[in-house]
Amino acid sequence: RTGEPRLPSYLKTSIPTGATFNKIRKDVRALGLSTVCEEARCPNIGECWGGEGGKDKATATIMLMGDTCTRGCRFCSVKTSRAPGPLDPHEPENTAEAISRWGLGYIVLTSVDRDDLLDGGSAHIASTISRIKQKAPKILVEALVPDFSGRAEDISRVAISGLDVFAHNVETVESRTPFVRDRRAKYRQSLEVLKQAKKAKPGLITKTSIMLGCGEQDHEIEQTLRDLRAANVDVVTFGQYMRPTKRHMKVEAYLTPDHFAHWQKVAEEMGFLYVASGPLVRSSYKAGEFFIKNVLE
Ligand code: SF4
Ligand code: SF4
Repeated sequence: RTGEPRLPSYLKTSIPTGATFNKIRKDVRALGLSTVCEEARCPNIGECWGGEGGKDKATATIMLMGDTCTRGCRFCSVKTSRAPGPLDPHEPENTAEAISRWGLGYIVLTSVDRDDLLDGGSAHIASTISRIKQKAPKILVEALVPDFSGRAEDISRVAISGLDVFAHNVETVESRTPFVRDRRAKYRQSLEVLKQAKKAKPGLITKTSIMLGCGEQDHEIEQTLRDLRAANVDVVTFGQYMRPTKRHMKVEAYLTPDHFAHWQKVAEEMGFLYVASGPLVRSSYKAGEFFIKNVLE
């Protein structure tokens, strides 16, 4: 016993199966791609890859630029290294090709942080997005991107690449940021990243995610929501932080589904375009289902 609270039953999910699920897994292996769904051991993989409610609503999250990050956030199970190795120049094309074959309605691209690259990998990400749009113009693309150390030109390059949803996560409230995220990640900088994306392309939908259960206070969550609205952020999601391994940051609290419903209501009243809030909600959870139906059609 580590003094952590016990895992509640509503956080336990079943083992995924299904045709689309197996096809995605096979292609991901064959093309040497990585998915956050697998790397981060996301509990929703069956639901997202399987596309409950129709294949066109299925979502997968592809991780670009390898499986090794230059940062080390305390909640994250991605491997860390100062020099993760060169980018795969074929990755934008391979990724676009695989995605166009799966016939999904929505794709989330994310990436490790590459502080070792001069442009933070922004050209690689932008090129992947424009190739996907060339091969499958109907697919909606969300990119969950690093902070690019706040560089406006890198943020803008991704924002104007043909992207539908620009996502960057603040992850937690300001006071918990130094304890939760890598020391190079700054709360105010993340707000600026979201602001800059909107400035570069005013119609672009911007989105962020907050993990609860990291020691934050209620009034701090409210302040974060106000800060996000002031930065013109359209979409916010709340999920429960779950510790990937014993080497990672402890869970401070498991919030009940009622708590999540409360934050959903508060955020909706503040005027966010869309809010997803629940113990198992992850940044990309059912993103396709919602965006296709309500925002982008
Ligand atoms: Fe993948 Fe996101 Fe779905 Fe998790 S919530 S399985 S990371 S698409
Ligand atoms: Fe994980 Fe942090 Fe790297 Fe993102 S920046 S992949 S959260 S270690």
